[in-house]
Amino acid sequence: MLEVIDLHVRYGAINALRGATLSVERGELVAVVGPNGAGKSTLLMTIAGAVSSARGEIRFLGREIGRSSPEERVRQGIALVPERRRIFTSLTVAENLRIGMSARRDRAGAIRQRDELLTMFPILGERYASPAGQLSGGEQQQLAIARSLLTKPELLLVDEPSLGLAPRLVAQVLGTLVELRDQGTTILLVEQNALKALAVANRAYVLNRGEIREHRATSESGTAASLFDTYFGLPASPRPEGQP
Ligand code: ATP
Repeated sequence: MLEVIDLHVRYGAINALRGATLSVERGELVAVVGPNGAGKSTLLMTIAGAVSSARGEIRFLGREIGRSSPEERVRQGIALVPERRRIFTSLTVAENLRIGMSARRDRAGAIRQRDELLTMFPILGERYASPAGQLSGGEQQQLAIARSLLTKPELLLVDEPSLGLAPRLVAQVLGTLVELRDQGTTILLVEQNALKALAVANRAYVLNRGEIREHRATSESGTAASLFDTYFGLPASPRPEGQP
């Protein structure tokens, strides 16, 4: 569904992405993990069209979209759930959802989907007429995801949904992404919380200082060790008993 090939992004003298290459197949939940400043948000914003690349290709459903506007990419089926949620806090939950629905031509389908989402995220139904700013961080994250889903995306890009959330809510939000994947939404998730993201992803990449590699865990128990090796570019070496 998505192919990113040798993508380079610069902010002045900073090389935020240095030849990023990755792919996402239809129906997958793919994670990109990496530390602060690795280039994760830049990668998603470039795929969504909010940031321009200096070089490289972005192919979505077989078409090169690297020069399309962000609006065209939304129309083609790409939706971004941005970092720190970026919902409209002074608008109600209902109004935030209506923004997601505004580009839809199939009004009846959009209303039906909104009602399904209110069943999936009951708190949004309970707080429907309240300002979104009164929701907790995890609830705002649910609203941001629901709003993006209302654009009826083929591919959902999710930027650090765990940021600022208590561990219980992180599990809930990541569980929601798994549920959406199981219902057929293709998801590209970027996360600093690497082990949590790896636990839910079909496949993963590690991004560090603008460079990306596919992460291949050899076994369940080897996950933490091999992730560490991919992060720091060390060879997968045996570790003494009991050491992570
Ligand atoms: P975090 O997990 O901290 O959000 P990230 O992996 O999402 O980090 P990016 O936000 O993509 O990383 O940043 C990648 C690099 O590009 C960093 O060095 C950052 O300081 C720099 N950068 C990001 N946005 C800009 C900008 N608008 N102008 C200049 N430099 C930027």
